[in-house]
Amino acid sequence: MAKQVYYFGGGEADGTADLRELLGGKGANLAEMSHLGIPVPAGFTISTEICTYYYDNDRRYPADLDEQIRQAMGQVEAVMAAGFGSAENPLLVSVRSGSRSSMPGMMDTILNLGLNDVTVEGLIAQSGDERFAYDSYRRFVQMYGDVVMGVRPADDEDHDPFEALLEGKKASLGVTQDVELGAGDLRALVAEFKAEIKARTGADFPDDPREQLWGAIGAVFGSWHNERAAVYRKLNNIPDEWGTAVNVQAMVYGNMGNDCATGVAFSRDPATGEKRFYGEYLINAQGEDVVAGIRTPRPIEQLQDEMPDAYDQLVRICDTLETHYKDMQDIEFTIQRGTLWMLQCRVGKRTGFSAITIAVDMVKEGLIDEREALRRVEPDQLDQLLRPVFDVEAKRRAENEGLVLAKGLNAGPGAAAGKVAFNAHDAEAWADRGDQVILVRIETSPEDIRGMNAASGILTARGGMTSHAALVARQMGKVCVAGCGELDIDYATRQMRVGDQVINEGDFISIDGSTGEVIAGAIPTIPSEVLQVLLQKTMSADDSEVYQRYESLMAWADRTRRLRVRTNADQPDQSATARLFGAEGIGLCRTEHMFFEEDRIDSVREMILADDEAGRRKALARLLPIQRSDFIGIFEVMDGYPVTIRTLDPPLHEFLPHEAGAIEQLAAQTGVPVERFQRKLEDLREANPMLGHRGCRLGIAYPEITEMQARAIFEAASDCLKRGIKAIPEIMIPLVGHINELRLQAGVVRRTARAVQDETGVEVDYQIGTMIELPRAALTAHEIAEEAEFFSFGTNDLTQTTFGLSRDDAKFIPDYLHAEIWPEDPFVSIDGSGVGELVRIGVERGRATRGGMKVGICGEHGGDPASVEFCHGVDLDYVSCSPYRVPIACLAAARAALSD
Ligand code: PEP
Ligand code: MG
Repeated sequence: MAKQVYYFGGGEADGTADLRELLGGKGANLAEMSHLGIPVPAGFTISTEICTYYYDNDRRYPADLDEQIRQAMGQVEAVMAAGFGSAENPLLVSVRSGSRSSMPGMMDTILNLGLNDVTVEGLIAQSGDERFAYDSYRRFVQMYGDVVMGVRPADDEDHDPFEALLEGKKASLGVTQDVELGAGDLRALVAEFKAEIKARTGADFPDDPREQLWGAIGAVFGSWHNERAAVYRKLNNIPDEWGTAVNVQAMVYGNMGNDCATGVAFSRDPATGEKRFYGEYLINAQGEDVVAGIRTPRPIEQLQDEMPDAYDQLVRICDTLETHYKDMQDIEFTIQRGTLWMLQCRVGKRTGFSAITIAVDMVKEGLIDEREALRRVEPDQLDQLLRPVFDVEAKRRAENEGLVLAKGLNAGPGAAAGKVAFNAHDAEAWADRGDQVILVRIETSPEDIRGMNAASGILTARGGMTSHAALVARQMGKVCVAGCGELDIDYATRQMRVGDQVINEGDFISIDGSTGEVIAGAIPTIPSEVLQVLLQKTMSADDSEVYQRYESLMAWADRTRRLRVRTNADQPDQSATARLFGAEGIGLCRTEHMFFEEDRIDSVREMILADDEAGRRKALARLLPIQRSDFIGIFEVMDGYPVTIRTLDPPLHEFLPHEAGAIEQLAAQTGVPVERFQRKLEDLREANPMLGHRGCRLGIAYPEITEMQARAIFEAASDCLKRGIKAIPEIMIPLVGHINELRLQAGVVRRTARAVQDETGVEVDYQIGTMIELPRAALTAHEIAEEAEFFSFGTNDLTQTTFGLSRDDAKFIPDYLHAEIWPEDPFVSIDGSGVGELVRIGVERGRATRGGMKVGICGEHGGDPASVEFCHGVDLDYVSCSPYRVPIACLAAARAALSD
């Protein structure tokens, strides 16, 4: 009989932390805690293999599962000294999901299972508290009715049928609080709940605890495929095949009186990463109350006064766990009549901000090494260090003008401003249309996950730092203010009131996730501390611990990575920014971006409008000094680092105005008749400009353009070299598909280089290479490499041309992602098996001709962590990305090197 059920409790366990795949995170850690002698209520885990079996076999179970459950239940009964279904001394259990990777709140949970009209009497005897027993029974029927029997609100606006009955009961008794209901009222509610279930489903509520247990197990396995879990998995790249385990565990109670409590704690602050015991708890409550955010909990420090022994034990356990697992722990605990029980431990979720703090601090504390620290920070999390905060002056003005509406908990750091949406659907729809949205909810539930993902910020009226809103927002890296009790939100009128102020749906608000403030209106934002130290120089490195940690992490990444990281930049200031972020050269300077500036667009247009070469040369002569000074600026910044300059690439019509008014204005300004403009525009018109007269095709038609650009590059390089600035130009020809195209263009560049070097007397160390942007270029890379001294993969165009998909018009991409035709947008993350295969072929064939040839990538993929990993795998020399992505690419490259 294969093992399917794993017992834990009483200082022993069948499983260990290593069996995470089989037992899920929760089950594996309960087993581990039990081994460590930490008090956990006894229970057992039904393995994830049963989940797979359940779905493969039409929602049936293996024949011997029942027997294994009976045996494990027997062990639990022995350790907890109670009987499942016993009338006198009943054992009650919780039934919870537990997948390999935590999915907070996404799947279903049942508490107090085993209660019926008979066992409730036993619970009264055990607890000596009739009200408590009936309250537990009431909660159980409500949860089971919802989760297993499907009695729940139909939509966002509908009321919860059980809550409606509860409210009705309170109203009929003239009371407002749940605690004012007596045992008799709760008993009556149990009967009303059961009648409601019968009326809505036609089924009787099951009284037999075993039947209840099987119903709950089925519901938990079933919840693996509910919509919110599926969305969460997709957002977090969790495979559908993993399945969930089911944990059945003896109930302990935090709601048996004022000597009971329940809470959540972290071994470090999950928002900032600061090393301090951090958490919150509620006296006389069940665990779900803390997470659901129904009551706002107390900070954990207060527990030290209220229950000093339990507090000390908790701190010790937390330390033991952090030292054992060598990572920040997130624990759930319950104190039942003064006795502490641990319900769960797991590696704590954290903001990107705190991930970096914790990883760097743990290296300093000697808990982990640098390599492990790099593994602990997702490259995209670095974004949070580089995230904006509010402009201090603008915020102060808002404060002075009395625009601060309220203050909640600082649940997700950063600053966000946007339009208020009161439900997740609106948030999603508005964000799709391009609006910045702040999702405002009384409290969030897993149903809101899409809206939260779409919103720039999340604001809730209820719930603590570990409420759903807070946890999920932090994980998504969203700005979040939670538990802002002063907000009076009315979904029906789509308004919220704060004191006597009214905010309507669609009004702008700003939220500060670092301070918890909620402010009327949209406040402008300014860059992060890292940016202030690095770029603005408005803060010194000594004053910023944030910056110091960033610097340590980046230094470790730099020591570890093999891939070089360059930047795509066309201006000296962009280049300077990228250098400060660690860029080791320019991988793509798109020279056409320089053509749009005020002082040169006229000459560019004049060149395009010229009828002959002489006319074009005249205009180009005016552009030459301007381009030269552009290049000088960039060489100065990149002193000693290579600068890849691409010759003109876009179709020429992009430089001309198209609207009648603008054409007339330009005609008047240049003295060129309007008709000539129109004729030229007509000449240049193409049905598919991105596949038309662009790239090297322009330089082939008008070699004088390439010649002027080459002259500007070499004159600039000579100028710099004369002044001791180390200019290393790499001239790159775009959109080559045939070796002969490159030969022609390289010839122009070489001739010009020779001429300039002869004129100036300065020899310039340069290379000529090409972009690989067309499938034909990749496939004939061995031929192209005869001429090209380097390759740079232009994966934007290579994706477009491989998929046969216009990069400008692919409006259907969201549909393709939704239908899971593609796992990712191929313009964001490289399509490994198609585009990636062409890259692999291109590298291999190119280097077969020219051994050790330098190869890089300069499409947008160069800043996407998954694509960077791919580039490492196919042995590129460098990736090139936008300046602000440079640190992200550096970290991604280091992590790729670690997984070799
Ligand atoms: C590319 O095609 O990947 C590229 C970098 O060039 P551009 O985006 O300028 O076409
Ligand atoms: Mg391109």
